[in-house]
Order: sequence, then structure tokens, then C-alpha cells
Amino acid sequence: MSQRAEVHGIAASPGVAIAAALVIPRPGRARRRRTDHREREAQRLRDAIEESRTEIEEARAAADEELALVLDAQLLMHRDELLVEAAVRRVLDRGIGAEWAIEETVDELKAPLLAAPTRFFRERAQDIEHVGQHILRHLRGDDRSSDTGSLALPGATVVLLGEDLSPADALRMLSTGGVRGIVTEVGTHTSHTALLARAFDVPAVVGVPSLFATLRGERERIEPAPVLVDGLSGVVVFDPHDDEREAAEARATRYRRFASVLRERAETTPTTPDGVEIDVQANIERPTEASSASAHGARAVGLYRTEFLYLDRGAPPSEDEQAAHYREALEGCEHITFRTFDLGGDKLPGQFAVRVGANPALGLRATRLDGRLPALLGTQVRAILRAAADAEGEAALMFPMVSGPAHFRALRARVAEERANLEARGVACGSLRVGAMVELPSAALMADALAREADFLSVGTNDLVQYTLAVDRQNPDVAELADPLHPAVLRMLANVTRAGDAASTPVAICGDMAADWIALPVALGLGFRRISVPVHAMPFAQELVRRLPMTNAKTLAHALLDAGSAGEARAQVRGALAGDLADLWEEVE
Ligand code: PEP
Ligand code: MG
Repeated sequence: MSQRAEVHGIAASPGVAIAAALVIPRPGRARRRRTDHREREAQRLRDAIEESRTEIEEARAAADEELALVLDAQLLMHRDELLVEAAVRRVLDRGIGAEWAIEETVDELKAPLLAAPTRFFRERAQDIEHVGQHILRHLRGDDRSSDTGSLALPGATVVLLGEDLSPADALRMLSTGGVRGIVTEVGTHTSHTALLARAFDVPAVVGVPSLFATLRGERERIEPAPVLVDGLSGVVVFDPHDDEREAAEARATRYRRFASVLRERAETTPTTPDGVEIDVQANIERPTEASSASAHGARAVGLYRTEFLYLDRGAPPSEDEQAAHYREALEGCEHITFRTFDLGGDKLPGQFAVRVGANPALGLRATRLDGRLPALLGTQVRAILRAAADAEGEAALMFPMVSGPAHFRALRARVAEERANLEARGVACGSLRVGAMVELPSAALMADALAREADFLSVGTNDLVQYTLAVDRQNPDVAELADPLHPAVLRMLANVTRAGDAASTPVAICGDMAADWIALPVALGLGFRRISVPVHAMPFAQELVRRLPMTNAKTLAHALLDAGSAGEARAQVRGALAGDLADLWEEVE
């Protein structure tokens, strides 16, 4: 008899998989063991730390640049006095067992980070936990007198189920080629596991709060049984019925075929059936992604988020280091819009001694940090000006969190000032178009004045929705309310395209609305002719454009300005465009 069970989480890597489950056990807490041989126990701990470090170094050798940064941070932690030395001291001074010492130390380091209001710190707590678990596994491997404490690699094709996977473990497992899908209890769309799953093209569902409750005591039953991972809808089914299984297998095949056909059709400016060209650009966060954006048909990167340069390190990157990064990106793709750092909010590295306040999203964020840490923005602007000097194509710079025309004017003056500084040093600067992101309601409402000042506008719908609808974008309890199809947001978007037309200033959308397949037709109908989406979403966005009659989109979008709610607007889009897009939506829902 089937023991079907279903859980839901965040769809983190698209595609559908079905394979035997392999549960990665949640490590139990160490027994509170004491030792009479303190020196020997301390040495056992040092050996485990060394083995763990070697394993992560090996994984690092196979990692891409992005993951290498994460693993470097974990390697640093293996030498961190607060972690390693403190744990060894606990053994030597108090005579407690090595496992217990590591757990106590990790708990102590994590506690203040977990209590922090910003996601950035909570994620660092997870990094410490990963390192602690790695060391613990090597200690336990030692206990079992096995050669290694590494997780066993899957011998056949499997779906991995775990509380969490450390980046090193995830990389080792994915590299075997045997992993068909991943399901984890923790994590978000941007967590390491999600990034890796997308890089390896493996469907994944993360952040499944009930996963271990479902698995508890049932591992023997669940493990040999098949599990279905739907990385499009976020649904995971244990021991699915035969008809579900068949449907999932058919869907997996269809999705793979569909995705590969779309990839083959990659083009820079797809055209709607009634002849309107849409420029589909890419959102990236690492220099290495620039060439992948080009391969997916992007002529340009519309949003290069630069925060990664500042994270997981002791001091901000120098002008030279940044210039080298930006040059490398420009080699992969000729036209790039660099967004200056949007630190603060949920991302403020500990290196900056700045208090963000109880509401980080409303505090010292992005260019607001300039008042406190002026060197930060100046250094970045100079680095971008220098990289632009060597670029074959066109580099642009845009500022996030612009509040209105005077704010933008002041920021633009900073660019002129830094250009003068460089030129005084005899350093070559490139020409740069300078744009403003429209993310604050104040900027959207003053779009007419802003469009006269800026070389281009780009709407960050993630923040525009957050600030317009008073919905914290980090809070899953209100996530459903964060809908760009709310008519208040649509009216702001209409204001932006109107302003762009009046001033002949190009306007784009680079927030997630452009990769929301119900909302994108509305954005296009409101007049946006340039969009920027994550690289993996580009083929789908291009296909949607090829199928969407602009006249229909326009009529619909203008009618939605008078909808009563986002829900009503969504229903109207589905009704009005089903004839053109229903089969396309079906592929990804
Ligand atoms: C946005 O707010 O929509 C945006 C593109 O910027 P970020 O998501 O980096 O805040
Ligand atoms: Mg934003």
C-alpha cells in the first residue's frame, strides 16, 4: 500500500525529478562526555579539524569562483581562534569531550548572529553551523574507526533529503552525477544549495519546514521509496501514486525538452507577434556569470549586483581589486550596468561599524551609507570608471534606492568628482551612462523629474513593492502580499513609462516582476521595452515575448490600473491572455 505524503517548500531550481530518496541524517547532539585524557582528546579534535579542512580544500579545487568564495570563508573559520582555539581550550581546561566542545562553541558563536535582525547575519550563523558539522562528522568518523568522516557518496541515482547541505558536501555529491534532485529543510532561493542546484541543473525544493517531521522515524520506509521533486511548484511527494509518478516523469521529460528548445532559440531582442521588439537583458551577481548571460542571448547585463564583493571578508575591496572584477565581467559581456553596492538592509558585513537600526530596510542602506562611509562609494565609482576605460562595449552605472531628483543629482556629482580625482592622477576613465533605480515610491511618483536628470531609469520592483505595500521582503509570513500586480504598483509603473516617453529616457524593469510570468505581460503592456531577468529565466522571458500580442497586453494592462487588488489583477491576466500563453504557463507551474 502506498504511504504517500506531500510537503511544500520554496521552488529553488526548476525542473522535475523522481528517484529513490537518500536521507542525509540530521546529526544528533553529542553525548555530554568527559575525558580523563585531555591532551589526547584535544589532539583528536585538532586531527578532525585538519581532516575537515583538507576535505573542504579538495572541494574548493573543483568549485567555481562563486562557491570558492564561500569555501574560502569556511577555510578561514578552520583557523579562527574564536572557533577552533576556543573549542580546543574547552577540552584542555574543562576536560569535556571533543564533540561536545565543538557543539558548545558553535552554539555560542551562532546565538548572537541568529538573533540579528538581518538575513546576512543569520546566514553567517549557518556557515558556522556547516563548519561545525563538518568537523563533527570527522570526529564521528574517527569514533567509528572508518577512514573518513565524509558523507557517503550516492551509489545510484537519488534525491537527496537533508536538513541542510554544506556547500562542500553539496558540491561533492552533485559532482558524482548521481543526484537527480535536492530537498532541504532550511534555505531560501538564494542559499548556497539553491545556487549550486541551479548551476548543476538539478531540480531543488528548499525551505520545507515540515521535512524532518515527515521523515522522523520513517527513514526506513521513505529511503528506498521514490520521491518526486517538483522544482517548478515547490511540491515534494514521498512514495507518489503510480499515476502521479507517470505524470511527473512525463512532465520532467517535457520540461527538459522545452527548456532545451528555448535555449536553442536564445535571442537578444525577441519580437512580439505584432512586431514590438523587447530587449531582454540579464541580472548577474558575479563576473563569471557575464559570459553565461551572453550565451543565453543577452547583449547586455541590465543589473550587476555588486554586493558580493563586500561579503565574507575582513575589509572592503580596494579600487584595484574592484576594477579587476569589473574588467573581467566586461570581457564576458560587452554592455554592463553596474549597480553600486546595496549594502545595509539585509546585507551589512560586520566589517562596517554602522548601526542599521531596528528597521534595516528603512535605515542606512545603499547610498545612504555614503554619509557615514564616503570612501566606500568613492572607491567603487572610481573602480567602475577605470574598468569602463578599457571596455569595448558600453558600461553604465546605476544607483539603487534613489529618493528623487535632488538625491540623484548629488550622486551624479559624485561620479564627476571621482572622475576629476582620477584624471588628476593621470588615470584613464571611460565614458559612463549614469542611471537611477526606481525602488522608492518617492522616486516613482517623481519619475518625470528623475527621467529628465538621469540617462536611464530601471525599476527595482522587489523594493518598490516592499515600500509601496509595506511588506517586508524578508518575512515569509507576508510574502503572499508582495505582489507587483497590486494596482498601486501598476499605477507607479505606468507613471515611470510615461515619464520615460516624455523625456526620451530609456526605462527598464530589473526586479523579479520581469521574471514573474503572469506579471511580465502587464509590465510590457504598460510600455517597458527593456527587461532584465536572472540568466536561467532568459529563455522563458524571450519565448513569452514571442507569443504575446502587444495590443492585447496594452489593453489589459491599462484596464488593470483600475483593478481592486493584486488578486483580481492576476485573475484578469489569466482570463485575458489564456489564449496566447496558457500552454506556456503550464510548462512552469
Ligand atoms: C529590486 O529591488 O527589485 C532590485 C532589483 O534590487 P535588489 O533585489 O537587489 O534589492
Ligand atoms: Mg532593490
